[in-house]
Amino acid sequence: MSAGDSYEVIVIGSGPGGGACATLLQKRGIRTLLLEKNDVLGGKMYSVERDGWAYDIFPHGQVPMRGSAFETVFAELGVADEFVRPVEPDDPRDFAHITYRRRDRREPRAANQRQAMADPGPFFALWDIDERARQQTVEFMAHLVTLPEEALDELDDLSMHDYLARFEVPYELYSYMAFHANASLAEPIDLVAASEQIRILRQIFLQGGGGQYKGGFGFLTRVMMREFERNGGTILRRHRVERILVEDGAVRGVVTPQGSFRAPIVVSSAGLQPTVLKLVGEGNFDRRYVEHVRSLVPGWGFTSVRYFLERPVLDVGIYTWYSDESWWNTERFAQVKAGRIPDEVSLFMVNHAYFDPDAAPAGKQVLVAGTVCSGDPEANEIEALWGRMDEQMQRYYPQVWAATARREYAGPREISEFTRDGVLPGQGGECVGLGQIVGQCGRHKPGVQAPIGGLYYVGADAGAAGMGTHQAALSAIEVVRLVEREHRAACVP
Ligand SMILES: Cc1cc2nc3c(=O)[nH]c(=O)nc-3n(C[C@H](O)[C@H](O)[C@H](O)COP(=O)(O)OP(=O)(O)OC[C@H]3O[C@@H](n4cnc5c(N)ncnc54)[C@H](O)[C@@H]3O)c2cc1C
Repeated sequence: MSAGDSYEVIVIGSGPGGGACATLLQKRGIRTLLLEKNDVLGGKMYSVERDGWAYDIFPHGQVPMRGSAFETVFAELGVADEFVRPVEPDDPRDFAHITYRRRDRREPRAANQRQAMADPGPFFALWDIDERARQQTVEFMAHLVTLPEEALDELDDLSMHDYLARFEVPYELYSYMAFHANASLAEPIDLVAASEQIRILRQIFLQGGGGQYKGGFGFLTRVMMREFERNGGTILRRHRVERILVEDGAVRGVVTPQGSFRAPIVVSSAGLQPTVLKLVGEGNFDRRYVEHVRSLVPGWGFTSVRYFLERPVLDVGIYTWYSDESWWNTERFAQVKAGRIPDEVSLFMVNHAYFDPDAAPAGKQVLVAGTVCSGDPEANEIEALWGRMDEQMQRYYPQVWAATARREYAGPREISEFTRDGVLPGQGGECVGLGQIVGQCGRHKPGVQAPIGGLYYVGADAGAAGMGTHQAALSAIEVVRLVEREHRAACVP
């Protein structure tokens, strides 16, 4: 090991959590090394930029649109002017095209619904509900938006299903919430923490949600990594951390196939379970802590099917499709695992060209679509789900299907290979990270500080709330605060 291999902080992984953390630490003058196992940077929010195309490999929408953690990061980096929201929450173009089929109907209805708080009229038309049900819906939504933060904290221990049971609300509203739990959190409504889902819903209503960036989410990575290097940070790609070195109960550095790197502080975005159980090793932790980490429940996965269109047929940014039968709760998930694949699945789809005229070569478009699935890299129902997605595309979006020249498919196996090691059975292909479920959110969310000196977790698994990329960057802001304090304390003679 040469002297150059010694740093003040080592960050493992360049996703939104690790990337935001490394760039903020370096900006604060802390000598940081960023190690990424892949050739490319960005983790799950990686965007392909090649041959005139610029799109995300996974279907992403930003929640909240206004006031996301990335705005805070850009501001601290001094590049706030580069943060350009493609659609402002109060822009009339900020809407989603929603298709919904009631259980008592053969054919679905479609409507354009504004994302930010607005007229619920399109939803009412879509759901086809009477005046009383409309009134119940309006009252419930007003209640959600005005719920004080303390009251929200109390909902950490309640699932959204149990929370809704306290109100008289129409089934159509329940059904939408069940779809939303799948689409925004990759969780079932009967497990998702009400506090977490309500926080996300409130952000969508008040700050806008679901939009994309020019250049895809990869735009965020490009700016953060550029600033990181400009401020003197070191990035080493294709450097997989195999072990985090611990001596006398404190972190000393990391081991990669290319050599060891020393630092008194290591921040890992490899995932909480992979970090504890694989990179550090169980033997370095208290037995009860290891049992706790093993008991944490991973979130579900999300498929990604990219439709490359040879002509422009899409005229809206976000498309969703759901029915009363298409969302999954734990019972429906169990049926899928037992081999009963539903006839139709929910869809969340992003048309990048709506947000970025340069997302595709002239005259072409790319639609990145997905549906909720198991997070198990070995799950054997994924191909059947891709098949369902294609069938629905043919049936409900025939113009898209007819224009499709090529398709690419990804599922939990690809998510795990690209980002997160599976260290426990059924784990690795999570869409977000640890499940945002009762017992793991709010005051139960794992903290960013590990019970080993100098070790921190960053990313979607620790320290924050909200939708995937936003909460990963929020977690980075919290880690940076604590790491800087530890670093400065260690520097005092
Ligand atoms: C299909 C899909 C759809 C999604 N939709 C949305 C959405 O609409 N909105 C939203 O906000 N979020 C969405 N997410 C979730 C969001 O992408 C993640 O929650 C977020 O990227 C997690 O950030 P992270 O930094 O915690 O981890 P990651 O993005 O997983 O980054 C971890 C990084 O660490 C690297 N790494 C891991 N192990 C090692 C190691 N041993 N050595 C070196 N490097 C290592 C990985 O290669 C990776 O680059 C979606 C995700 C998927 C997969």
